[in-house]
Amino acid sequence: MSNLLQNKNALILGLANRWSLAYYIARAFQREGANLTLTYQGERQRQTVEELGQELGAQRVVACDVTQQQELDQLAEILRAEGEKLDTVVHSIAFANREDLARPFSQTSRDGFLLAHEVSTYSLLAVARTVAPAMTEGGSIMTLTYLGSTRVLTNYNVMGVAKAGLEASVRYLASELGACNIRVNAISAGPVKTASARGIKDFSKILDHVSEVAPLKRNCDPAEVADTAVFLASDLGRGVTGNILFVDAGYHIMAY
Ligand code: NAD
Repeated sequence: MSNLLQNKNALILGLANRWSLAYYIARAFQREGANLTLTYQGERQRQTVEELGQELGAQRVVACDVTQQQELDQLAEILRAEGEKLDTVVHSIAFANREDLARPFSQTSRDGFLLAHEVSTYSLLAVARTVAPAMTEGGSIMTLTYLGSTRVLTNYNVMGVAKAGLEASVRYLASELGACNIRVNAISAGPVKTASARGIKDFSKILDHVSEVAPLKRNCDPAEVADTAVFLASDLGRGVTGNILFVDAGYHIMAY
């Protein structure tokens, strides 16, 4: 441990299980000495996240479904009541209906489009608004995105459009919150087998293609995504804001 995050308080949203990118990030943050608060989405996740929180030595585990304004308000209240400064926030949340990821993009339902954008894009603003008052000494907010925001990837569909909005939101938030010394960035991770990724039809074909074509001739390791999150959360990243950082074994530079 090099204690890059010692004395830093971190809030991590989007840890559902041991495969979640947020779990790898939480583990890396713990290794670097951060104090962790984790959130869970709904009662169904509660026990698992509490158990993982215990394993990770998290200070607290709180409910936060980002579509429920009252849960965001409760989160703000908890942060206010604790009176601690918050240094880092990881937004690792996305959702789209499975059928909207399988049918042709032009057939995306209105409700499915709005739901994907509410959970995957709008929630970054909602979370930023919730946490900013607790970031009294500045800090770092980060989200997770994917190459489908700028390139057409088979079966990524509405999620690609949501990620485009998410990345634009990163830039607008970075511009606005910079005055409070709050940095806002996104990590564009390569494909990793997680519960969300399983919702994308033929996901294993994407993994095979990346390992053949990427400059490093392999897929990215979620621990590499987590170490980049440590960098962004730490003082090493103090000059970095409004960026989309690719952690994808270099795949994004290739033309095929
Ligand atoms: P995951 O399924 O483990 O995580 C997704 C999380 O979103 C879950 O914890 C889920 O509970 C949460 N979530 C969904 N709806 C929510 C709501 N209404 N309120 C609160 N939380 C909600 O999968 P993951 O792959 O770790 O995904 C994390 C992030 O990483 C997502 O933004 C995803 O798009 C992004 N990402 C994933 C990959 C990949 O290949 N796995 C690649 C690039 C980016």
